[in-house]
Amino acid sequence: MSEQTDRVIVVTGGSKGIGRAVCEAFAGPGARIFFNYASDKAGAAETEQRIAAAGGVGSSAQVDVTSESDVKAFLEGVIKDAGRLDVLVNNAGVTRDGLIVRMKASDWDAVMDVNLKGAFHASKIAAKAMLKQRAGRIINISSVVGASGNPGQANYVAAKAGLIGLTKALAKELASRGITVNAVAPGYIETDMTAAMTEAQRGAMVAQIPLGRAGTSREIAAAVRFLASEEAAYITGHVLHVNGGMYM
Ligand code: NAP
Repeated sequence: MSEQTDRVIVVTGGSKGIGRAVCEAFAGPGARIFFNYASDKAGAAETEQRIAAAGGVGSSAQVDVTSESDVKAFLEGVIKDAGRLDVLVNNAGVTRDGLIVRMKASDWDAVMDVNLKGAFHASKIAAKAMLKQRAGRIINISSVVGASGNPGQANYVAAKAGLIGLTKALAKELASRGITVNAVAPGYIETDMTAAMTEAQRGAMVAQIPLGRAGTSREIAAAVRFLASEEAAYITGHVLHVNGGMYM
């Protein structure tokens, strides 16, 4: 089945890591990829260059996903300029780890606001355009821990489990208009987010992975690209685990 190449794609948090790899995976002749970031302007410029090198057009904006008005302005601007929106990937995420007894309410709120509420803000605007188009794909980047749980990450786990709930609710709500909504749940992927781990923590993590290694951002991006493809047209409300077997 041939894949449409001239799609309009929005990726949140595209300045590095998995978000950058997702932007690159969609890049190709005719593709228009709009992504935002929190503060890493240089990283965003690098992603734009990589999209261009692959033949696509990449455009970035510094937009905090926790700001409802800024997300609205960003997405409505894209939809106005590009004339439509084919794919939204809610990828922006942060961690503020700590045991529950020591977790500050501000750490809870910060993680919920970026990882879960940010996806709500973006999905709301995207859904309006996609409902009119009677087509569209929304893909949420959850996490293995949203299904398995993880000590020291109550805020992050709750947000990632919440994203799975959001995925299923929107899948049911938007299906009649030809819109699919799915989640990708990465396992342990080497990015800036996981760079702070010690060698011992890294070793302990890899020991839990049947495939015996960390995953790559490209492997996550490939799953996202599949869920956005024509071949995945009949898949909705699904959580695709890409974790080397660490959780089944
Ligand atoms: P990363 O390297 O830390 O990149 C995070 C991205 O999100 C950056 O582009 C960052 O922008 C952006 N971002 C953060 N807060 C934002 C905000 N308030 N508004 C807009 N953008 C914001 O993380 P990653 O490892 O690629 O993770 C990407 C996604 O995958 C996250 O949702 C994460 O939870 C999930 N995930 C990661 C792993 C893993 O092992 N790495 C596993 C499971 C799930 P700046 O660069 O400007 O800060």
